Amino acid sequence: MANDFISNPAILDGFTRFQSVAYILAALLFILALAGLSKQKSAKMGNNWGILGMIIALVATLSIGVVAYAHDPMLAIGLMIGAIVVGGAIGIFKAVRVKMTAMPELVAMLHSFVGAAAVLVGINSFLADPGNGTYDNAFHMGEVGLAVFIGAVTLTGSIVAWLKLSAKISGKPLTIPGRNAVNLVMVLACIAMIAWFVNTRGVEGGTVPLAVLTVVSLVLGAHLVLAIGGGDMPVVVSMLNSYSGWAAAMAGFTLGNDLLIITGSLVGSSGAFLSNIMCKGMNRSFVSVILGGFGGDAPKKGGAAEHDYGTHTEVTPAEVAELLRESKRVVVTPGYGMAVAQAQFPVADLTRKLIDMGVEVQFGIHPVAGRMPGHMNVLLAEAKVPYESVFEMDEINDEFGDVDVALVIGANDTVNPAAETEPDSPIAGMPVLRVWDAGKVIVSKRSMGNAGYAGVQNPLFFNDNTDMMLGDAKESVEAIIAAL
Ligand code: NDP
Repeated sequence: MANDFISNPAILDGFTRFQSVAYILAALLFILALAGLSKQKSAKMGNNWGILGMIIALVATLSIGVVAYAHDPMLAIGLMIGAIVVGGAIGIFKAVRVKMTAMPELVAMLHSFVGAAAVLVGINSFLADPGNGTYDNAFHMGEVGLAVFIGAVTLTGSIVAWLKLSAKISGKPLTIPGRNAVNLVMVLACIAMIAWFVNTRGVEGGTVPLAVLTVVSLVLGAHLVLAIGGGDMPVVVSMLNSYSGWAAAMAGFTLGNDLLIITGSLVGSSGAFLSNIMCKGMNRSFVSVILGGFGGDAPKKGGAAEHDYGTHTEVTPAEVAELLRESKRVVVTPGYGMAVAQAQFPVADLTRKLIDMGVEVQFGIHPVAGRMPGHMNVLLAEAKVPYESVFEMDEINDEFGDVDVALVIGANDTVNPAAETEPDSPIAGMPVLRVWDAGKVIVSKRSMGNAGYAGVQNPLFFNDNTDMMLGDAKESVEAIIAAL
């Protein structure tokens, strides 16, 4: 009964029209979502636009299934809802359990699914509509070839990135001799296979070039990321995010799905921008990240690790509480350690308490503080720190001279003066927060023994105006609050 109603031509026509309108609406909502997410103030709204766009897109996708499977639309709806429920349940299960610090590896794993989907859609699209020698078909075959190529590179690249980030394999770059030449040969082989594939006829003719293309692209993706050291992995994750967008866009071309083309392109271009921002924040060039071979080695001999910076001075949380109470302006610069310690909640409490006592409290956020872009902003928003008091590095860096206390919570490389003063340092040239210009610097970290992400010593810790508050950041900040 329901089948007869839905498969009525007039109803099916309605589904197709609804789908076109829904696609435009969803695409607009995704663009609004990106615009909203670009600022903390509008981020929540942006997220809501994105959720609404995704709901509309899902409903439109159900309507495509109904039209494509017109002889048994209820079966199509049942299968798709079943897939959404199973996929959604696995996604929710993973998302609620993941620690904030393990986010990059989860994201890397999710990118591999997009790559796998693009490869499967490409192969399926070829089987359904193999080469036939016509002009239109040549375009289709080219799209299939590109979808499989980008999808396969994304698939294995993301799996290797996930393995490296979760420390299941070594983070050291695999630097086989002539690796750039090997990559170039594989890229040229893939181009040749796509050219051959486009000119084939029938499933039999296209199978060999498609199979070779798939295998070479899979090897290329794995090799590209294996050659990149642990230090550059987060840039790689953002780069793979971009690739997964382009893979989805190519899958959109093969399926003739405009929404997939638009959303894939949005993801592809925003991922590329993000990679660029991260490269600038780490003073690395995008090309050198792609070419690999960096980021797994110990600090260079003669680098900052070898300098003798003298002795450090220590301070207790109770003394810090006294110092903060007497300050007029305090700037907190959080880093990866705040995320590890989950100290954002006591830090937010401390901020509220100091503001109530008449102290001006601001946050200075380095673009690559933590382990993923926006890491600190997310944590501070989670702890309900007012966004008006959160500043980007460039907005606040010239003002540290007017700051009474710079409170460094679990940050190291992002506040390392060696980046400006020591040309032989592995982080030389990286833009850093100039906390040392403040009247007093308090650094929270667990011990003097451990270095930051780049593995280099930080001369800031030994400055005359710096005191070290050693211990877990959460416990230290809670102790400051108790003393206040
Ligand atoms: P770092 O990784 O340089 O330093 C972290 C600091 O936190 C260490 O001093 C560590 O010292 C301390 N710490 C760790 N656990 C705790 C704890 N429980 N309580 C108190 N302190 C703790 O952090 P930054 O944020 O300054 O720098 C980020 C680094 O990551 C940069 O080098 C950046 O290039 C890199 N990076 C960032 C990416 C991003 O997108 N944000 C991406 C890729 C890399 P101790 O162990 O003694 O406690």
